[in-house]
Amino acid sequence: MTTKAYGTHAADKPFEPIDIERRAPGARDVQIEIAYCGVCHSDLHTARSEWGGTRYPCVPGHEIVGHVSAVGTDVKGFKVGDTVGVGCLVGSCQHCAACDEGLEQYCENGFVGTYNGATKDAPGYTLGGYSQRIVVDEKFVLHIRHPKEQLAAVAPLLCAGITTYSPLRHWNVGPGKKVGIVGIGGLGHMGIKIAHAMGAHVVAFTTSESKRQDAKDLGADEVVISKDAAQMKAHAGTFDFILDTVAASHDLDAFSSLLKRDGTLVLVGVPEHAHPSPNVANLIFKRRAIAGSLIGGLPETQEMLDFCADKGIVADIEMIRAQDIDRAYDRMVKSDVKYRFVIDNASMG
Ligand code: NAP
Ligand code: ZN
Repeated sequence: MTTKAYGTHAADKPFEPIDIERRAPGARDVQIEIAYCGVCHSDLHTARSEWGGTRYPCVPGHEIVGHVSAVGTDVKGFKVGDTVGVGCLVGSCQHCAACDEGLEQYCENGFVGTYNGATKDAPGYTLGGYSQRIVVDEKFVLHIRHPKEQLAAVAPLLCAGITTYSPLRHWNVGPGKKVGIVGIGGLGHMGIKIAHAMGAHVVAFTTSESKRQDAKDLGADEVVISKDAAQMKAHAGTFDFILDTVAASHDLDAFSSLLKRDGTLVLVGVPEHAHPSPNVANLIFKRRAIAGSLIGGLPETQEMLDFCADKGIVADIEMIRAQDIDRAYDRMVKSDVKYRFVIDNASMG
């Protein structure tokens, strides 16, 4: 079915309206009319080919919310009219050890990303949520239980929400834990809200003085301007856990040195250029760890959506039209986002 979308034809070309084809729903498929789609920094890294390997035309978007307009004959969990979401994954092998545990993001045979992933559908790679419709295997569709009027602000939970929730859960963040969130953008602002809701003592690290009050309003107990060495030093050796969401290369030692013995610095940001190599002494003398984490599996994504619905958590968003995507990207590069752009897909015409 021909579907309106916004895509780009090269790393240095602007977004423009394009028509794409969506498959007719198969037996296990859910067809979704997309209401809103969040704008993740990964969309920018991909559209501008900062990670390499982007196939064009590229239609990004993996923070998708909308309504079911058709279901295949074998679909059990969804019906026409349901409010649903789709995140970063639309496929995985479903028979490896990771998939068996509901950790589809670590599928040993390679997951299928919502955009730029290999698929049998035309044009041979997936096209994401900067479009008016998508067809997805029901296994990769999530239920949304937030109030209807919050739908646009729920969209960012599908990537920014789960990418911060999953490591916070995995490393047992909760009451009595001192937790740092580095970089107050789309991921970071969700990290503050979720870590606060989990009961941790939350410290926000930002390079933007202008975000200090916002970080407190989002739920941070303390705010540190990470460029200020004295402010950083005051926290040396005190953190159980630090989540680093920064989208650019930077010095990791500045944060690993803030960990207690056995503390962990988890990287979720994926900058275009590598971070400087971390100082080994900084790690070995306190058995500190640097780890990574990738989005979250389907069961945990549903758990996160339900957790956020129960706690009344949504993203702080700035709604844009599809025509404004390039401008939004330029602002994102300057850290000028408060705190997630969300596309109103009705603006695609
Ligand atoms: P974003 O909204 O642009 O936020 C990134 C924040 O990092 C900025 O707002 C800024 O916060 C800080 N920052 C940017 N440049 C910096 C610099 N040069 N030095 C220090 N801090 C800087 O991006 P996002 O959508 O949250 O995504 C963040 C990163 O996570 C991206 O690389 C993205 O690709 C990646 N990501 C990873 C996963 C995963 O599964 N691991 C999932 C989604 C996204 P302040 O103004 O507060 O300093
Ligand atoms: Zn994302």
